[in-house]
Amino acid sequence: MKQYNVETVNCPLCHSSRYELYIENAKELYNNLDEYFNVTKCIQCTHIFTNPRPTQDTIEYFYPNTAGYYQPPETIMKQGFPYEVYKKILNIFYGYHLESKSNFLLASIVGFLKKRQIETSHMPRYIKNGKLLDIGCSYGSYLHKLNQLGWNVYGTEINEKAIAYAKKEFNLINIENNFFENTKFEDLSFDVINLNMVLEHMYDPHITMDMISKILKDKGQLILSVPDIKGFESSVYKQYAYGLQVPEHLHHYSPKTIKTLLSKHGFIIEKIVHHNFDRDLVASAGYMQNKRLSNFLKNKFIRTSVVKIFVWFLALIGKTSRMSIYAKKL
Ligand SMILES: [Zn+2]
Repeated sequence: MKQYNVETVNCPLCHSSRYELYIENAKELYNNLDEYFNVTKCIQCTHIFTNPRPTQDTIEYFYPNTAGYYQPPETIMKQGFPYEVYKKILNIFYGYHLESKSNFLLASIVGFLKKRQIETSHMPRYIKNGKLLDIGCSYGSYLHKLNQLGWNVYGTEINEKAIAYAKKEFNLINIENNFFENTKFEDLSFDVINLNMVLEHMYDPHITMDMISKILKDKGQLILSVPDIKGFESSVYKQYAYGLQVPEHLHHYSPKTIKTLLSKHGFIIEKIVHHNFDRDLVASAGYMQNKRLSNFLKNKFIRTSVVKIFVWFLALIGKTSRMSIYAKKL
């Protein structure tokens, strides 16, 4: 007997019933379960979505506590450069009021060189006494970091283990063990709302976006990341792409479809930043069980001299399989 039920759906973005097969029989690879799912593409709006998909009341089967995103971080606050320089960078580029002993010129150079790294870590523009919500905050490392930079932080998370960790290790008080859709926050109360690899898991992104729009202040910042189905890894590896992650990912956005969704809810996109994360390229080869390709990409010399440079270039032209979107509520 199956551990879950499935449902066939119309396009979750435009509700059209006209769609075509995009990827057939993709295996659940993230938790290595012997379950297979199709991915379809809407003929009307081009949105790509898992279909049929597990029903909302049975999808928990695909979210065991052992899932990668519920594992606590080994190190936090890892910027790749000293914290004093980091604070100075935030001061120069993002308007943060932080004391720092770092040199202005040094921080300007490092900040310029590490621009993509900082942008893909979802750094909001500074607002004094600003209030920030992280939807799907997991073990709370983002909230902890932003809290230390002066934000009043709030979070929602469905995994109990992750919530317990966030409360114990980071003393985060305002985090709720609940589906975001079931929470009740005050209207127009947040300056920033963040979703890190979350929107692709939401059953009805229109409901999520309506709620976000309601509780975010006018001109508030929305920062989110999702996999990009039009990226290089997704296009080349197809059903083995690390970012496909069926059936947990119900939606497979592209820059075009994420723009459609956000603009429908009154948001304007300020920038889309693609991640230069070489693990996607390497892990996908592992999923293919292509030992030769996988070992080749994992080779230390190849990974640092070829893979990293290639992924850096792909990110530059907006063609990796993860993207962060900075949007503003109009
Ligand atoms: Zn559609």
